[in-house]
Amino acid sequence: MLHLKNIGILSTYNSATDSFNSLKNCSIDIEDKIVTNIGSSNNNGDFIIDCNQKLVTPGFVDAHTHPVFTNGREKEFTQRVSGKSYEEISLSGGGINSNIKGVRESNETELLDIVMGRMDEFLSLGTTTIEAKTGYGLDTESELKSLRVLDNIHNNHQIDIFPTFLGAHSIPDEFNGDADGYVDLICNEMIPAVSKQGIAKFCDVFCEVGYFDLLQSSKILKTAMKYNLTPRIHSDEFSNIGGTKLASEVQAVSADHLMEISDNDIDLLTNSDTIAILLPGTTFFLGKEKYAPARKLIDRGVHIAIASDFNPGSCHIKSMPFIIGLSCIYLGLSIEEALKAATWSGACALNEQDRIGSIEVGKQADLIIWDLDKIEQIPYNLTSAPIKNVIKAGEPLISLD
Ligand SMILES: [Zn+2]
Repeated sequence: MLHLKNIGILSTYNSATDSFNSLKNCSIDIEDKIVTNIGSSNNNGDFIIDCNQKLVTPGFVDAHTHPVFTNGREKEFTQRVSGKSYEEISLSGGGINSNIKGVRESNETELLDIVMGRMDEFLSLGTTTIEAKTGYGLDTESELKSLRVLDNIHNNHQIDIFPTFLGAHSIPDEFNGDADGYVDLICNEMIPAVSKQGIAKFCDVFCEVGYFDLLQSSKILKTAMKYNLTPRIHSDEFSNIGGTKLASEVQAVSADHLMEISDNDIDLLTNSDTIAILLPGTTFFLGKEKYAPARKLIDRGVHIAIASDFNPGSCHIKSMPFIIGLSCIYLGLSIEEALKAATWSGACALNEQDRIGSIEVGKQADLIIWDLDKIEQIPYNLTSAPIKNVIKAGEPLISLD
């Protein structure tokens, strides 16, 4: 048994009371990966970690990432800061398509090593579970390869990965001018192959002008559902073309981005189980000013999560502590709202809230021991993540001996 003693404050969403709680001066017992007791310190256990009166929170559940790529796009970053927009760079042959070559040409071991290294960083920043999308292969074999890489890491790395098939990330060059032809390939060949492979849990679509229109997005998500892939959608990022309406129609588990969401679409989310995943890192990284209307969403009863959107182009940010800081500064969230959105609501956006996302008896022991005294210090420290240890499924990241 692992015993965490001398916890100064345990801050977590609590599903029994549906509130964010802070418990002072307590301890946690962990057996067989599971939290078995939360109480006062008793100093019993085969292994004891002294938390020295510091803060403990759940591990982060980052429900929106794109980590399966080889090359970075720092050259584009330079172009952007000298005045070109993301859309202009994309139209001139940069953007997502510049990553396709890298993934297609990389062998599986190379790709695995690169993505595995990224997962080490995520875990050290307190992210214990991650949703990870494909979408830089865009042919059947490269997409299946990307999913095998994610599955391999899930099985051999402490971090838990929930894979999403995102063949509909962009139109690859060979289908230039024939988006419908690519949609046919996705629906007739890729989705059946992905389903047969059995790794992906979700199917996502980039529903956006210049990528996949509403009809195409609808066709892809409805085909995916026939193959038991749960739909999620990139919606209302640069323009509103009806993605959120589609999300509520297909009961997508999440509608993500939402900077351009309309009032009518907010009503649709209020009356659905679809979670709004907000990605303030992207607005920040692109130097834009329009963030998703988080306060309006929350005040009208929409369940929101926050995530990193880690990707090589529009948001090269892995740190959930930083995303929490951005959410407080730019989305107007309280620290409790931001922490709930980064843990519990992230788990809800993966349909895993019964198992992870909060520290409660009976749930998996995924948690962070901070070198901080209280949650207010997480956004206050913004760019640093003062973490002493991360416990994933009862296993400390930094070993005790
Ligand atoms: Zn994304």
